[in-house]
Amino acid sequence: MWEISDYLFADSPPEAVSLMRQGPGKGIYLAGGTDLLLNPPECDFVVDISRAGISNIARTPGGDVFLGAGVTLQDLATNELVTSFAGGELSRVASQCGNRPVRNLATIGGNLCNARSSADTAPILLALDATCFITDQDSQESLPLDDFFVGPQQTILENRLLVGLALSAEVSDRRCASSKLICRADNMALAHVAVGVDCREGRINAARIALGAVAPIPLRATLAESTLDGFDINSEDKETLSEMICDVAELAAGEVDPIDEHRASSEYRRDLVRVLTRRLLEKVLAEIAAESALNDGGQS
Ligand SMILES: Cc1cc2nc3c(=O)[nH]c(=O)nc-3n(C[C@H](O)[C@H](O)[C@H](O)COP(=O)(O)OP(=O)(O)OC[C@H]3O[C@@H](n4cnc5c(N)ncnc54)[C@H](O)[C@@H]3O)c2cc1C
Repeated sequence: MWEISDYLFADSPPEAVSLMRQGPGKGIYLAGGTDLLLNPPECDFVVDISRAGISNIARTPGGDVFLGAGVTLQDLATNELVTSFAGGELSRVASQCGNRPVRNLATIGGNLCNARSSADTAPILLALDATCFITDQDSQESLPLDDFFVGPQQTILENRLLVGLALSAEVSDRRCASSKLICRADNMALAHVAVGVDCREGRINAARIALGAVAPIPLRATLAESTLDGFDINSEDKETLSEMICDVAELAAGEVDPIDEHRASSEYRRDLVRVLTRRLLEKVLAEIAAESALNDGGQS
């Protein structure tokens, strides 16, 4: 039984923060409730944000895609702006979270704000360089999702509200892929990897390797990423490319800090990072090479 003294509805983001700050006692925001109702935290009151007007998906005038924090995973899985963004990898990830009744309630904001290292939307959003919008009572802040997670189950928010995320138009054609291995007993990821690559005329000009469930927080393997910068995928023979991918995967595996527990050993999770990173990079770079060969063929 969850013992709370008050259940309040916020009609706007600033009102939500104001209610949270008013007290008395400790409050908690509630979005879809799929995490909170399973593991009710100790608190005195709840601020329900489902009516705060943050459930929209929209194209901004600059061409970015804005995702309100209250957007459900089911909306992410089906909305046309999301299914057509960067090959629709975010939609695919969302469509595989939980089951349909859970996805109908669960929000993208709740997935990120519970700050579990295994949160499924975090790696692909990191691979897409998502920007977070955070509101206080009378101010707003935006920051890279990279800076959002600060410790185990801890975000930079404190009592502030995550209003939404933006995906820049600049990454709308980023070639992405992601993969996770789950523990069958509880469906939680043992390791989750997402990669994203931008290429111009065969040369990599941005690479992202984002990891979940293998460190206290979701994170990017920045050392491994930087090894890919400037690499010309067309000028190298297959063997060199394959060696380079193995080296990058090895570096990514060295950047994680997995826990050792009953579901999987730390070494097993590290191995998963190595294998998944290699496979995803092979897939993405092969797709880019095939597309560039097709374009060259069309021009000749
Ligand atoms: C059966 C089942 C299966 C699941 N499967 C998966 C899965 O496959 N993958 C996966 O990643 N997760 C899974 N989950 C976990 C959960 O559904 C997701 O993490 C979900 O996205 C949480 O969203 P919510 O809106 O329900 O969050 P809530 O439970 O409402 O909130 C979660 C936390 O975030 C805070 N919060 C929510 N929104 C905001 C905001 N805008 N600003 C500040 N703080 C906020 C809340 O205070 C709370 O601490 C599953 C859960 C269940 C019950």
